[in-house]
Amino acid sequence: MKQAIMIKPKEIEFKEVPVPKITQRQVLVKIMRIGICGSDIHVYHGLHPYTSYPVVQGHEVSCMVEKVGKNVRKFKPGDKVTIEPQVSCGHCYPCTHGLVNICNELKVLGFQTTGTASDYFAVSVDKLVKLPDDMGFNEGAMIEPLAVGVRAIQKGGEIKGRNILVFGAGPIGNLTAQVARGMGASGVMIVDLNDFRLSIARQCGIDYTVNPARQDISQELKGAFGPDGADLIIECVGVNKTMDMAIELSRKGTDIVVVGVFGDKAAIDMGMVQEKELRLFGIARYIIEDFQTAIDLVTGGRIKLLPLISHEFGFYDYAKAYRHIDEKKDQTMKVMIRVN
Ligand SMILES: [Zn+2]
Ligand SMILES: [Zn+2]
Repeated sequence: MKQAIMIKPKEIEFKEVPVPKITQRQVLVKIMRIGICGSDIHVYHGLHPYTSYPVVQGHEVSCMVEKVGKNVRKFKPGDKVTIEPQVSCGHCYPCTHGLVNICNELKVLGFQTTGTASDYFAVSVDKLVKLPDDMGFNEGAMIEPLAVGVRAIQKGGEIKGRNILVFGAGPIGNLTAQVARGMGASGVMIVDLNDFRLSIARQCGIDYTVNPARQDISQELKGAFGPDGADLIIECVGVNKTMDMAIELSRKGTDIVVVGVFGDKAAIDMGMVQEKELRLFGIARYIIEDFQTAIDLVTGGRIKLLPLISHEFGFYDYAKAYRHIDEKKDQTMKVMIRVN
């Protein structure tokens, strides 16, 4: 089978490797689609702090079960599945307290351990999540980023009837905003400087889209949600500027969920956090239960995934996909690799 190996930043080689053998508790899956996300792009540019080369990428994935190990009962050949791509140790403090996503020795597929960029992949049965038979492979590969949105919203507490402000209309911001809406938020506003991304948010049914280059967010907030503004703010960009805006625009005594991945150390106005009695919550990825919640939201018709997919490339055009992302950043949302 073919495997795509990133031998160094910006260089992908295809190698012929044997189809992996599976153990009794593993499943061999045929890889169908791989979504490219922001972290993958950092690896492509050599800017991911916790990834070394060579690396096989791929962690947002949809697949089909090819073969199951002797002790696997839950799955059978032909099942559509996705993979929860975190490998945790199982015995550290976070692992034994329900927080396997922040395991002290966490390895994520495609970063610190081999990802799914190959025709077939052997995976432990505990990491597989069944997709509905009628779900498309492109949608299936977006359950992973959607699970991030699920965790972000659940971390923010009760969502029903509340007004939510989301910074960032990229895939994670969009999906987080959709989860908020799908779980019963009364109003959702999304902020981004990119009109293309805001138009996708509108296609996905987000109530209010704001471009701060032209609009005053605080005015828009008052107009949409009344004088008390948003009940919860979610930061999905990961830069100082939006974090500052989040703190400034927050109502006293409210929460900010931090989902964006910060490349640089952010300078946060702690005086304001203290004086306004704000609570800042960080969220890192998801736990496997969030995948099922994500799937249920999609099958319940509460999430639109397909408007997010702006481009699709064949497996051998993996590098071309990255070049496209670099050249057309402003017109790109989720890029899919069609492996099979
Ligand atoms: Zn990702
Ligand atoms: Zn652990």
